[in-house]
Amino acid sequence: MNADTRTMTEPLVAYISMEIAVSPAVATYSGGLGVLAGDVVRAAADAAYPMVGVTLLYHDGYFRQRLDAAGAQHEEPQDWRPADALEQLPQVVTIPIAGRPVHATVWRYTIAGVDGAKVPVYFLDSDRADNDEAARHLTTSLYGGDALYRLEQEALLGLGTVELLRTLGYNRIGTYHMNEGHSALLVLALLDQVRTSPHGVPTGDDLARVRERCVFTTHTPVPAGHDCFGLDLATDVLGPERVATLRALDLTDHDVLNMTHLALRASRFTNAVAMKHGEVSRAMFPDADIHAITNGVHSGTWTSKPFQSLFDEHLPGWRRDNWQLRQAIGIPLHEIGDAHAAAKQTLIDRVAHTTGKLLDPKRFTIGIARRATAYKRNDLILRDPERLAAIAKKFGGIQLVFGGKAHPRDWDGKAMIKHIVGSAPALAGTVDIVYVENYDMTWGAALTAGADIWLNTPRPPNEASGTSGMKAALNGVPSLSVMDGWWIEGAIDGVTGWSVDAETGNDDARTADALYSLLEHTILPSYTQDRFRYLATMRATIAFNGSHFNAQRMLAQYALEAYTTTEPTERAERLAG
Ligand SMILES: *Cc1c(COP(=O)(O)O)cnc(C)c1O
Repeated sequence: MNADTRTMTEPLVAYISMEIAVSPAVATYSGGLGVLAGDVVRAAADAAYPMVGVTLLYHDGYFRQRLDAAGAQHEEPQDWRPADALEQLPQVVTIPIAGRPVHATVWRYTIAGVDGAKVPVYFLDSDRADNDEAARHLTTSLYGGDALYRLEQEALLGLGTVELLRTLGYNRIGTYHMNEGHSALLVLALLDQVRTSPHGVPTGDDLARVRERCVFTTHTPVPAGHDCFGLDLATDVLGPERVATLRALDLTDHDVLNMTHLALRASRFTNAVAMKHGEVSRAMFPDADIHAITNGVHSGTWTSKPFQSLFDEHLPGWRRDNWQLRQAIGIPLHEIGDAHAAAKQTLIDRVAHTTGKLLDPKRFTIGIARRATAYKRNDLILRDPERLAAIAKKFGGIQLVFGGKAHPRDWDGKAMIKHIVGSAPALAGTVDIVYVENYDMTWGAALTAGADIWLNTPRPPNEASGTSGMKAALNGVPSLSVMDGWWIEGAIDGVTGWSVDAETGNDDARTADALYSLLEHTILPSYTQDRFRYLATMRATIAFNGSHFNAQRMLAQYALEAYTTTEPTERAERLAG
């Protein structure tokens, strides 16, 4: 049966996200949140799990990053054409925003799973001649504009999702899964659907019925990261009736429309994205019952070609059943070494092609790529350049490959990129530094597979989960990381990588000191003098972390804990007769 007709008649999960990275050719994502969302829908397709994705289409994308010789970041629109990568549907969705109707074109990208099951992802696009100028621009850029722009975008995403799915004939949606709070206004559209009386504001019973249908994943461990809007602005965008509803049902946070608060209040199940993030989130929202389902990455997408071939040979079936990767522990070490050498060469070729810089395949290569923002401390390894150079000299030189965009208004993040680029000339020859421009999915795959170690030094507890180290793990690349996010669950010292002592916490100097000591006394001696020990760590990284921190396990947990609409005890009673 056609996947679309099947998902229209079976209860399914609608997965809604401000960004969903479906493909490198569809430039509507900025980073971790979108890549995770893409991995969720890819895992659903592999498992033939009934799901549809909904997001917005951004004509200029997030931005294309260009760096000048001094490392100053310049932003340009991303150059892509929706018609080249997406299929336009005949339907048009219309919703009221700020007192006028806003029309949206619907585009579809279809994800095919390992066995051919299909999961559609729908993109709403308001760039149409029948909209006014401001409405046309709502789908120009991701995370751009002011508070009004953002709230109107979130109205388009939230209210638009419910209208879109109704228009397309999906009438058996069991769960609306809000990936982060951006889509939480869908709660208002659902209240309209379920309300029993057309008069006055919806009731607490109506909200209870909406709660039965909503699931929420929070991604932000810092209070400033949660989207908040004043109620005056909310009244302008949503109208006085909607704001009266929000107030009457206690869906506002005092006099603020806080999207996290709204999503928490209106969801039957909420989760954080790692164990530690669960603790932090429960402290931030003491009234909420917040579970922890640790993120995972899609193995078929993030495993490099050489390791795909190796797994196909030794663990046929690993794509359908990622737990088979646990048995990577039986793959001969020299084959792990050969596959990694091939992945490293692919990275080196790509760096040479795009930057003209020639890296040495024999030199120890550290990968560091993530959003350039202060708390991530991407430049921490350069804190004491003389000490780093002395260590590098002792072991025949090292190479650092950096990547990552700074938000256009993140001045600290931009300064961090300049610091990294500016550090390169003085260290060249001993510590060779490359900063690749425009970190995206393609670079993400090349870097996490081609580095010899993946470095992660955010300021705890700011990293909710992090996922790039999981991509590295699928490729046998161990992590060198501070104790934060997913790594708290993935760290087995000397087996899956190395950890900077939890005691060093937020202290930059102590963290850097611990980092240098590990490189000098443990990691580089193993890499340069005990090749098989290093390869054993690489292999164990796949077996322990690749087999667990993948999107298949994450989806299975969502299915078991979040998407079931009946209680386990109730199901057990039914089966017992
Ligand atoms: C995987 C990925 C991320 C997320 O990685 P973090 O470890 O969470 O920083 C961000 N951007 C791109 C392009 C990615 O591929």
